[in-house]
Order: sequence, then structure tokens, then C-alpha cells
Amino acid sequence: MKTLITALFLISSYGSFAQILLKPDRIFDGKKMHENWVVLIEDNKIIQVGELNNIQISLGAKEIDLKGKTLMPGIIEGHSHILLHPYNETNWNDQVLKESPVERSIRAVNHVRSSLLSGVTTMRDLGAEGAGYSDVYIKKSIDNGIIIGPRLIVAGPAIVATGAYGPKGFHDGVKVPLGAEESSGNQVIETVRRQLGNGANFIKIYADYRWAAGEASNPTFSLKEIEDMVSTSESAGRYAVAHASTPEGMRRAVLGGVQTIEHGDGGTIEIFELMKENNVALCPTLAAGDAISRYNGWKGDLENEPVRISNKKVSFKEALQSGVDIVFGGDVGVFSHGENYRELEIMVDYGMSNQKVLESATSVNARVFHLDKLGNIKSNFLADLIAVEGNPLKDIKVFRDVKFVMKDGVIYKNE
Ligand SMILES: [Zn+2]
Repeated sequence: MKTLITALFLISSYGSFAQILLKPDRIFDGKKMHENWVVLIEDNKIIQVGELNNIQISLGAKEIDLKGKTLMPGIIEGHSHILLHPYNETNWNDQVLKESPVERSIRAVNHVRSSLLSGVTTMRDLGAEGAGYSDVYIKKSIDNGIIIGPRLIVAGPAIVATGAYGPKGFHDGVKVPLGAEESSGNQVIETVRRQLGNGANFIKIYADYRWAAGEASNPTFSLKEIEDMVSTSESAGRYAVAHASTPEGMRRAVLGGVQTIEHGDGGTIEIFELMKENNVALCPTLAAGDAISRYNGWKGDLENEPVRISNKKVSFKEALQSGVDIVFGGDVGVFSHGENYRELEIMVDYGMSNQKVLESATSVNARVFHLDKLGNIKSNFLADLIAVEGNPLKDIKVFRDVKFVMKDGVIYKNE
């Protein structure tokens, strides 16, 4: 609460300045680190960036000293679920079956505030998981200034093949709310159109899933069904992405034309190369697997490392080798909102350089998600900026405690 009051105070105390000059030790512009650069903001835009001598500042501009800090674009979270909370608090089935969309939306109000204050200024949300279009309405509430949160890009209910999704374990006469919307055959075109009409910004498809609880995943939609959903999305100026973790599910999703593959745990070097050839990015969600393994009792030690984690480390290295675009996205919601930094740390731990991780969370995500004016510090881009203590190229853990957050030119945190 204290942070929220501070945020509101900051909005009113800085909001009236036409120009704001931010003076950190260094700036990561989305691609490169620059020592001794400053950035000038006017209203909600970055208007100049570079060495202080080269910047023309209006009289009366407000100066903000960010000494000792690195300024960079706001983090773009690639895979969140604002309508879920950690599975060690309440398991997924019980969240879908026992928590109403109202309760889940009230929780989401807290989730989006925590996300913004931890440095996430844009978030791609990958499905409401049984809460209908609550993600669309939370986004609207943020855009209308009723609550604070990141810019949201939302999937709505997501689409699963008939019979493939959960909660499962009931006899056929019991109707339970599903975690996504079922569809099959020609009907998939209608489902995509309805979801887009109801406010989904993109379409999420489940290309494979566990057909029965406890078994391994198998493909769900046919290539033809995926092609129909993708082309229907694209003709509406949107795009589709796929949850997939089996090689065949991933292959169909790539050939069907999706933009990103979510998870990709069973990806092989051949599949990652196919993705690269077809310009499909991988969102590896490393932190979700890590969190679930810990909920099952793993302490994080190498000695007792679960097979799931060892395999994921191998496939992540193969993805890095293949050169496929890797988008930052942790599946936050499986673990606590605001702890998005966990994915950044695990990406480094599994072999990605700090430099590449920073690019992924900013300029790469902006490019892959078609966010033209975000993810980079350049003139005319939107003023979504954060600052961390020290240098994130040397220590990825600095994201545990983000010190400064600006979204759309408004300061929400300055510690
Ligand atoms: Zn997810």
C-alpha cells in the first residue's frame, strides 16, 4: 500500500512538468549499453537520448538524478496469467472450479499492480484459464486509469481441441468450466472470430496437451485446423501463438504459421531450426518448470535435479545454438506476480548471456510482438523506462529490486 501511495504522490508531483531529464550512470537502449547517456522525456514520449552536451533541454525541465543506476526500456513480459496465482497456494483445478471470475479479477488487480511496480511495463497475457474475458476487462480498467498496471496484450479464453483440456476426471454428465474454449473442424474459424470480436488481441492455440491426466502430451489440432485459425487471425490483422511441447505439436504449429511457440520443452535442434527458418520465436517459460519442480519438493540442488529440469536445460541450449529468437516469458502466475525476474535469472543460469537476456526482455520482445514504439530507448518511442541499481550486464539479480518505473511518461516508482 505504501508503494501505491508513493506512486500516486509521484504521479501528482511530476505530472505537471512538460519535460523530464533522467540522469542515470548508463543507459541500455534495448540493444547496447552506453555510459554517461541521459534521456529527455516530453509528455509520454522519449524525445532525445545521448550525451548531455548534445541534448537541447527546455527551461524548467524537471531533472531526476538516477546516480549509480542503469536506465533501460521497461521489461516486456512475454507470458503471464494475471488470472492465476501460484499453484502452491491453490492448485490449477481449484482455481478454475472454485474461484469465481469476480474473485479472480480482484486478485488480478493486485497482480497487475505488482507487475508494474517490479518493472514490467508491457505484458502479453496467455489466456484467462477459465475466467472468460476477464483479461480484456482488466486491460480496459488499466487503459481507463481505474487501476495501475502494465500495457496488456491479451489472449482471452484461448482455444483447445474438443476433449483435450481440463479440469478432467468428471463423468460425461457433469459440466465443469474449462480452462479454455473448445473447438474443432470448421468451427475453429467461428471461434477465432468470436474471440477477436470479444476483445482478444491475439489467439492462443493449444497444439498439444495431456489427453488424460497424468499422461504425456500428444498433438491436438490437425495442421489444417491450425492453418484455419492462423489465417482467420491474420485476415483480422491479428496473429496466433501456440502452446506446444511435443516435437509434432511444435512442427504443426510452425507449419501452420503461428508467431511464437510457448514452452517448447520437447523441442529438438531440427525443430528449433525449422522455427528459425519460418521466423517463429520460442518463449521457453523456464521459471514455470522450475517453480513446479520446487512445489513438488525439489530444493534446487544439482544432485536431486528432476529429469524435467535436466531435459529443459539441454533443449534450451539447443535452442540457443539454433539461433531461433528467444522471447522472455516466464509463465508468471504459476509463481508470484512481480517475481518476473526469476525467468531472467534462470535464462542466465541455463547458458544465455546477460546481454542477450536484456535484449530478449526489451527489443526482441517488442519486435516479435509487433510493438513498434516500445522496447528501445530512441527518440519518438513511448516513455516506458525503468532503472536498476548497478549494472545488469554484470549482475542479473538487480531485477529483484527495480528502483524506478515510468510508463507512458508517468512515474510510478522512484526509490
Ligand atoms: Zn501459460
